[in-house]
Amino acid sequence: MAAPRSDPAKCQRCAHYFITHDALFPYGCRAMGFKSRASPHAEVEAATGAACVAFQLRPAVVRPGRPPTG
Ligand code: SF4
Repeated sequence: MAAPRSDPAKCQRCAHYFITHDALFPYGCRAMGFKSRASPHAEVEAATGAACVAFQLRPAVVRPGRPPTG
């Protein structure tokens, strides 16, 4: 049985995800220490053949008068 495919939006909800501001490698993963052109989970899946196991849900940001985001 094949490994489950990871959710394309997974990194955007992960505490380790960041935007690098590097035009060539705009996305980053702090847990694994790399920058990439594609979403980091896609790079992990391409390199290992399995979905990322380091995902950690980013805490919600709470602003007074607004619904929580995150
Ligand atoms: S730990 Fe996994 S889900 Fe989180 S940013 Fe890195 S590759 Fe994406």
